[in-house]
Amino acid sequence: MTSLLSNLNPQQLEAITLPHQSVLVLAGAGSGKTRVLTTRIAYLIQSGQANPHGILAVTFTNKAAKEMLTRITAMLPVNPRGMWVGTFHGLCHRMLRTHYQDAGLPQAFQILDSADQLALIKRILKDLSADEKKFPPRQVQWFINNAKEAGLRAAYVTVEDAYSRRMLEFYQTYEQQCQKEGAVDFAELLLRSYELLSRNEVLCQHYRERFQHILVDEFQDTNPLQYKWLKLLAGTGTKNAAAVFAVGDDDQSIYAFRGAYSGNMRDFEHDFGITRVIKLEQNYRSHGHILDAANALIENNSERLGKNLWTAEGKGELLRVYNAPNDFDEAAFIVGEVKALHAEGVALSEIALLYRSNAQSRVLEHSLFNAAIPYRVYGGMRFFDRQEIKHALAYLRLIANPGDDSALLRVINFPARGIGARGLEQLQDDAKTLGGSLWAAAVQKCGGEDSLLQKSPESLKGIAGFVHLILTMRQYCHALPLPHIVEYMLTHSALLAHYGKEREGAERLENLNELINAATSFVHEAENDSLAEFLAHASLEAGEHQAGSGQDALQLMTVHAAKGLEFHSVFLSGLEEGLFPHENSLSEINGIAEERRLMYVAMTRARRRLYISFAQSRMLHGQTRYHIASRFLDEIPQNCLKWLQSTPRMNQSTYASNSGNQAAGFAKTAYGQPKSSGGEWRIGQNVSHAKFGDGVIINYEGSGSDARVQVNFDHAGAKWLLLEYTKLTAL
Ligand code: ATP
Ligand code: MG
Repeated sequence: MTSLLSNLNPQQLEAITLPHQSVLVLAGAGSGKTRVLTTRIAYLIQSGQANPHGILAVTFTNKAAKEMLTRITAMLPVNPRGMWVGTFHGLCHRMLRTHYQDAGLPQAFQILDSADQLALIKRILKDLSADEKKFPPRQVQWFINNAKEAGLRAAYVTVEDAYSRRMLEFYQTYEQQCQKEGAVDFAELLLRSYELLSRNEVLCQHYRERFQHILVDEFQDTNPLQYKWLKLLAGTGTKNAAAVFAVGDDDQSIYAFRGAYSGNMRDFEHDFGITRVIKLEQNYRSHGHILDAANALIENNSERLGKNLWTAEGKGELLRVYNAPNDFDEAAFIVGEVKALHAEGVALSEIALLYRSNAQSRVLEHSLFNAAIPYRVYGGMRFFDRQEIKHALAYLRLIANPGDDSALLRVINFPARGIGARGLEQLQDDAKTLGGSLWAAAVQKCGGEDSLLQKSPESLKGIAGFVHLILTMRQYCHALPLPHIVEYMLTHSALLAHYGKEREGAERLENLNELINAATSFVHEAENDSLAEFLAHASLEAGEHQAGSGQDALQLMTVHAAKGLEFHSVFLSGLEEGLFPHENSLSEINGIAEERRLMYVAMTRARRRLYISFAQSRMLHGQTRYHIASRFLDEIPQNCLKWLQSTPRMNQSTYASNSGNQAAGFAKTAYGQPKSSGGEWRIGQNVSHAKFGDGVIINYEGSGSDARVQVNFDHAGAKWLLLEYTKLTAL
């Protein structure tokens, strides 16, 4: 016990050892909230106040949940399986899988991720002959998710105008379609689980008695429905109410746009009868200058609950600021510094590269790739989101549940088997007439399962061939272990053969093979290794099975995804007005305050060294944009900063230290014109491209391996092309 409780400050110790009561720990970044939460779990178990079975801990990302389990098992030799540790979505899913019947779901219900959901909405809009211009699918998606997150089923939504009435109609159809397909979207996981508990007294009682300790990390970001779920589960106000241990930081509330709302903290104090709020004020993570800078920045926000962070560490290094002429130079600068840090002995996994928007990662990735620096992207293109993996998963979903229309539509003609748009439309009409799934319509069309199975597959074409394929897969895979199912499916669906023929297919093949590895490790790790469970895992988990995941690699992610993590060194790129703060935030009430909290989160990830960079011109969404430095840079005291100044770059970045020279750093006006010529190419030159045809060069940027030209093609329009990868012929 002593070792568990050693090296803690008095406030931390108090929080960890509090008797059975609900409590709020309100504290700034790096003050040990997560450490206190995990230590409390270990303490409760070790002191006999709880057994692992009675603990439910919830956090925000899968990565954080894994980290939590690792930390607990490092402190205590317990089997973590009985404990419920996960994200809200993960825990609700677990509950629904166990009680699928009570929740009104088929056993093999599938999870729709956000892309699947959007695809389904598009289909519904088409079915209902809605004009996508008037009702953009994303808008409809937002309407539906918003209603669900407010706990509202379509039947309870009230609408006033014709537009919302139509939206509601989409929501109703969507609900019916999901129920028919046995599909559950992310918001539905929570709503269903909430309804299950609120309607089923016995079940609710069972969980209340079981989970006497509920612990919530990042409490500031729980949305109203999650909060209601917690309240219900904890049985607040009842005799046997659970002790809820919530830790959070109002300054790190960064999901207001998703309905999370740090006012929950105030409600929590009220609803859970909190008599004691524990504040932690010592920061153990960052050196002084980093902390001073972050503290000064966040002071610009009003309506804070207010706290004062200090560190016993020295001031450490100044924050390094780099003003780049363009995004390629910024990337080259980062590459140079990463190499230097690595040469000094800092592991790549201890260095993070953070950005505000996913779109920024492309240029960075390109430079890292060229410099042969291994890196991993978190939360970007997740492994399970890749096209080839989505196709493979669709086949697996059909094996689990052929009534899954979304999966069927994805692969009925992939790889191509000669089923055209008309054939599909016909099938959709048949399904409507039949009032069943596309699968049911397809089976009927082919004369029923039995007669089809008697035919030889070679004699079957089109839809009949597809139905035969899925039927045999289902039959054959019935009793196979999971990795074999995946292997069998990859071969018999002809996905492997298809990608094997593709010119750029090598990486896709590698990913498909990686899916077998993912299935194998899933079988080792999971309690329930059924196909349905694996599919749920694929929808809920961030892709942890990327190739080379064991390798030391630089960490790339958005600021949102970095929440709760820490690194020796952090690069914060793209500190420009319009990018960070994001342009969308400018038109929203409290938009800037939320961006500032995001900036605070970003800065406080660094333990020892923090770089901030911005570029005067940047390619985004196919356009060169000229930006000025972010206002957040003005909010950091100058005596915390060290300016590094760029000089014009030829093939690689050359930059000089220019400590304290602020004037040279800021570019308050747009950067100058792009260069007018580059090597063998010149603006105005007529060129030809194998795919895009003839065009004329209208712009030029970068040099060496980063050089690119903008060509205005006669038919394909204007495109930026990287010269290293593009073959242009002069005309
Ligand atoms: P965030 O708000 O960013 O999630 P946090 O409050 O959860 O931060 P932790 O991640 O728990 O903070 O802790 C930050 C760092 O400080 C960790 O490396 C942790 O191990 C360390 N730490 C926490 N408390 C102590 C302590 N009493 N002594 C030494 N190190 C500590
Ligand atoms: Mg934390």
